[in-house]
Amino acid sequence: CGIVGYIGQQDTKEILLNGLQKLEYRGYDSAGIAMLNENGTSLFKTKGRIAELRKHVDAGIAATMGIGHTRWATHGIPSGNNAHPHQSASGRFLLVHNGVIENYVELKREQLAGTTFVSETDTEVIVALVEKFSNEGLDTKTAFRRTLQLLEGSYAIAMIDCEDTDNLYVAKNKSPLLLGIGDGFHVVASDAMATLRLTDTYIEIHDKEILVVNREHAVIQDLDGTPIERRPFKVTMDA
Ligand code: GLU
Repeated sequence: CGIVGYIGQQDTKEILLNGLQKLEYRGYDSAGIAMLNENGTSLFKTKGRIAELRKHVDAGIAATMGIGHTRWATHGIPSGNNAHPHQSASGRFLLVHNGVIENYVELKREQLAGTTFVSETDTEVIVALVEKFSNEGLDTKTAFRRTLQLLEGSYAIAMIDCEDTDNLYVAKNKSPLLLGIGDGFHVVASDAMATLRLTDTYIEIHDKEILVVNREHAVIQDLDGTPIERRPFKVTMDA
């Protein structure tokens, strides 16, 4: 029910866990985070509270990119296995999703026959599709865009490609998501509440848009790949 993503040089683990804590008010039944550094990925997820998740996260872990999620189960029981992030079969792609993929049964049947699924969620088809298109030779951005073109329903998505420590992949349709801009970092979150202590400068993401976000730049496109320019705005907090 909430998403946080981060790319930059600060303590990714703390930014994700603190951000998720700020999103607790939205309600959730499980939570998880995934992080990437030069040595690979780490994934922690659990049923229950963020405080519980925090106990599982390796305190010494240093990463410069990560994604976090609080889940309000719609497809599949609340469990550690159904908690996000979800991983593709090879482990290369890791993804968090808020919302509901209405055509996930058709997508499994029509696009993913032969794929083994490890969760009961609608979400897992997204990461499986990205991997399928990547295996067919598409670069990650194109594989991601091709996947989103097939999805019906609502989504806020943040995705990591383990072979790419420079970019975070983000998309939105009918679920809230904002991009926060900082000095040498970017954050994404369902609600600026999660990230206001990091930055007051944000860019709106509109429905059916894709963002490829590195530390310095964020490229916005529509689902056809047409670039979009959008000016940031300042969020002011009443004291
Ligand atoms: N539909 C997804 C699931 O059940 C995401 C739910 C959410 O928005 O938290 O896992």
